[in-house]
Order: sequence, then structure tokens, then C-alpha cells
Amino acid sequence: MLRTHTAGELRTTHIGQTVTLCGWVQTIRDKGALLWIDLRDRYGVTQLFIEESKTDKNILDTARSLGREFVISATGVVHERQSKNDKIPTGEIEIYISKLEILNAAKLPPFTIEDNTDGGEDIRMKYRYLDLRRAPVRKSLELRHKMAQEVRKYMDTQGFLEVETPVLIKSTPEGARDFVVPSRMNPGEFYALPQSPQTFKQLLMVSGFDRYFQIVKCFRDEDLRADRQPEFTQIDCEMSFITQEDILQTFEGLVKYLFKNVKGLDIATLPRMMYADAMKYYGCDKPDIRFEMKFVELKAPAQDQGIDLVSGKGFSVFDNAETVVGISAKGCAGYTRKQIDELTEWMKRPQIGAKGLIYVRCEEDGSLKSSVDKFYDAEHLKLWAQLFKAEKGDLLLILSGDDMKARKQLSELRLEMGTRLGLRDKDNYACLWVLDFPLLEFGEEESRWFAMHHPFTSPKPEDIALLETDLGAVRANAYDMVINGVEVGGGSIRIFQRELQAKMFGILGFSDQEAKKQFGFLMDAFEYGAPPHGGIAFGFDRLCSLFGGVDSIRDFIAFPKNNAGRDVMIDSPASIDQKQLKELHIAVKAD
Ligand code: ASP
Repeated sequence: MLRTHTAGELRTTHIGQTVTLCGWVQTIRDKGALLWIDLRDRYGVTQLFIEESKTDKNILDTARSLGREFVISATGVVHERQSKNDKIPTGEIEIYISKLEILNAAKLPPFTIEDNTDGGEDIRMKYRYLDLRRAPVRKSLELRHKMAQEVRKYMDTQGFLEVETPVLIKSTPEGARDFVVPSRMNPGEFYALPQSPQTFKQLLMVSGFDRYFQIVKCFRDEDLRADRQPEFTQIDCEMSFITQEDILQTFEGLVKYLFKNVKGLDIATLPRMMYADAMKYYGCDKPDIRFEMKFVELKAPAQDQGIDLVSGKGFSVFDNAETVVGISAKGCAGYTRKQIDELTEWMKRPQIGAKGLIYVRCEEDGSLKSSVDKFYDAEHLKLWAQLFKAEKGDLLLILSGDDMKARKQLSELRLEMGTRLGLRDKDNYACLWVLDFPLLEFGEEESRWFAMHHPFTSPKPEDIALLETDLGAVRANAYDMVINGVEVGGGSIRIFQRELQAKMFGILGFSDQEAKKQFGFLMDAFEYGAPPHGGIAFGFDRLCSLFGGVDSIRDFIAFPKNNAGRDVMIDSPASIDQKQLKELHIAVKAD
């Protein structure tokens, strides 16, 4: 070993010992008579000390030739520091240098390698290997490591086998586009990279593996969205001879185990919410239940035969709306006109697309003031306030329009108000299961049905008859785990009978031939004794970022891609040369 200790290790108990440390020069302070160097490695920072009058000239010359990020080896005796630094664990000691060696010089880094760096996002991505030297980024990856170890421990104690599935496969439809790899040995043919190991894990169940898991890279060629990575990692799992309840218990267990062992937190039993209720009360299928602020309908769509407390008063916007729905923001009645206008503008941005925002202020004196006073008198507004269970000081914010659109927009507003009211504390974790997703959703553009989860998801047995009559009403044995408004995992009980799977492909618009060509292997396997099975997959990067209390998943990936799907460090994707193209039987450009 080139060193006796790490730069995070030495304490007052080491005083008097001669030690050798290796690492990078973080800072140099040269006061002439006295000189200090902060030496950094993965484990911490240790202060090195030189007193000019007592130090050999060679050492002094070497010390004065150092630059930031030089790699050095320093030997000396551990001393107690005169002025201690209680911000770092090694802050009580320093090393009086008796030997100093430059192991490698370094160019001046393009940004400072400290917790608060002066480097912008782009430059740090280009020099990711330098960014990874910074403690916050390194700590994120340490957390990821710990999470992976704990996942493996838990899954092992539960009898799951970790099995690797191939990366060069054939297209698996999960709703995204595949990345494809041309095959040199099979001209004109392509592999696809897995969007998930879905079909393989189901085949492992047919093989009798009973309980499978894998921490696995998945690839999806999706359009750019903030904080999406084209390659990401899942904790992928599958079990046989189970009910949905078994899956919920097993993986609630996993998440509780992770919170306990990684963060020291005890998580209560996860509440369960039906998809239909999530949409009704929160306008989305991944509600953030760290706070209430549930939706209240003043007018429900006609088919729901709900109440209507808005129509017939001359306000055509509400008269013509399918839905009028709102939230009550606690203690916000004091919002000024300007604040409400600003909020309205925020809702009108194209990302949200609301046409307007109606408000009712529940004033401290008990009166109600609204932006629609012209149409609704005080008595009428009182009915609204009662329905909202609003109290003095609350502000009702109301949207109207097409049911799904209004709910989606209100969901954004709810989250925004939650943030503004400080109700979304990162250290407070609210987990839940969302259950009973619809099996299918209708794609207006393509004018056909799509699997909401994926084509292998089983309908609820009691809804199977509806496959003949009302596809939109069929519920699936599908579930998502949601933490703080983020979908961290999702899965389903699978179809395991050939006929039902074939029927499902038919509903999704596959001809028998296409289904056979793409999924013949799975349907054939179902004829050789497929057990009932089901599973789930967690987004591992996202789970890590939630545990780390950071919004972006990038810091939890050692070498992430940017928002354009590029690795700017290695400059990929890149063109390949003509010879390679030719080998791959891909049309070669004429010179
Ligand atoms: N393969 C699914 C996904 O990636 C998860 C599952 O159904 O187990 O979302």
C-alpha cells in the first residue's frame, strides 16, 4: 500500500504516530512562514502542515510547486491542531510533513472541486470524473451502493434468486421505443435492448424459479423529458403461486426494510387507494399524500350523476363545463389580487394550459369574496364553502372544463400550493399503494386500445366478462407504489393462459400472425405448464434520489446522459466509420 491511512481516518487517538496519506490537493494556503495543504481522498480531508523554519528545503520547494488537484503522497507525524475545525471529522489533528512526493501533476480543473462548486451543469457533465470527486456527488453514489446491498440482503432472505437476463434481445413492448443494435452476423436483422426483462422473468416462472429478482439496466428510447435517462436501473422482481396481496406484502416489506436500514426510519403500513379515487380526489395516479387538500366537485360529469352547485346562474363558463372542481388552500385568503393574478398566469402557461382560475376568499369576518360574485350571491357561495369544509382564512381555487383536463390542471395547482405552503418536506415520506388500474386505455390518435401497464397484465377475474362488452371498464390486477407523489414501482398479476394472452393481443390490435411472430415464444411457454405469477419493478435511480432527498436522479447515476440523451463526456452517440457500417450491412453513404 502506498498509504498507511486514509484522509478521513485520523483522530486525536493517532497523535504521535507517523503516517503516510495519499490523495488530491484541495487547497494550499501559503503564509510564508507557515503553509497548509488540504489533502482529499474518497474518505475525507486532512490538513497537512509545514513550518518553513523547521522544514527541509526540498520539501518546501515541492510544496510550493503544488497546484490544485495534484496527486501527492505525504508522510509525517500526527499533531493536535492549534485551531480546531469542528466541521470535519479530522478537524482536531494535522500532519507535520517530513516527506512529500508528487505522484502526478494536474492541470487546473475547469471548476472548483468543493461541495459548493462554481461549475455549471454542462461543464460538470463534460468533466464528470472531476465532478465525482466532489463529496455530495460521491455521497449520492455511496447511498446507491448501500441501497443495492440492502435490496440484495432483503431479497435473499425472502428466497429470491438473482438471475441475469440478456441485454441483446427482441423488442418487448412497454409503451416506449426500443433501442436497436444491428447484427453483423445476421444481415438486415436487429437486436433490441430490453425496456425491461418482462418476458424473461415470466419465462423464469415457467421454468419453476419461483422467486426472481435482478438489479438491472433497462433502455427506453423516449422523447426528452426532464430527468429521464434513456438507460436506467430497475429492481425487477417476479413471484409464482401468489396473489396480489402477497406481492403487496412482500414489497411493502422491502421498502420498509430499506427505510429502516438505510435511513433509520420506521414507515407505517402503506395505505391503499383505488386508482378511481386517486383520480377523483387528486387528479393523478400518483398522489402526493404528504398533505390533504383533496379535490371537491362543484359539478361532476353528467354520467357520474353528481351534484351541480354551479349551473343556471348565468355563468356560461361553468354552465358549459363538464366538471367544476377545486381545492381549498388553508390560510391563503390573504392572497392579494396580485398574488392570485400571478397564480392564474402560472396556471395559464402552456405546460398546464388552464383557461382561468376562479377563487373564493373565506374572509376572517366570515364573508365570502369571489371572482364570480356577479353570478353567485353570498348564500350560494356559502354552499360551496360548506362543501369544501372551508374555514375562515381559506382560499378556494376552482377550475372547470373537460373532466380529465380540469383534474390534471388542478393536480398541478394542488402540488404548487402544497409547495408554497411548505407541506412537501423532503424528509417526510408518505408512501402508498395505488390499486385497480384500468387494464386498457383508448388512444384517440391511433384510435385503438393500449395496455395501460403492459400486454401481459391480467384483468381482474371478476371483470373478464367485460372484455366482451366494455373494454374501458375492465380493471387490472395492477398496482403502483407511490412515494411523495413519485411512482417508484409498478407491477401486475400476469396472464398465464395462452388463450387469454392471445385474446389480449387481439384487443391490442395484433393479428394472430403478428402476435405469434413477436410473442410466440411466450405463448408456447404458457402451454408447457405456466404457474400463476406476478411481479413488480422499482425504478432504482428514482428510489435512490428519493432516499437522498434530491429531486434529480442524475447525481445517483455515476455517468448520466444529459437531457438530449447525450453523454457529453465521451461524446456519444457518435457516427461510426464506413467500414463498420458496411460490416453491419447498413447503407453506406456514397463519397
Ligand atoms: N416490466 C414492468 C415495468 O417495467 C414492471 C412489471 O410489470 O413487473 O414497468
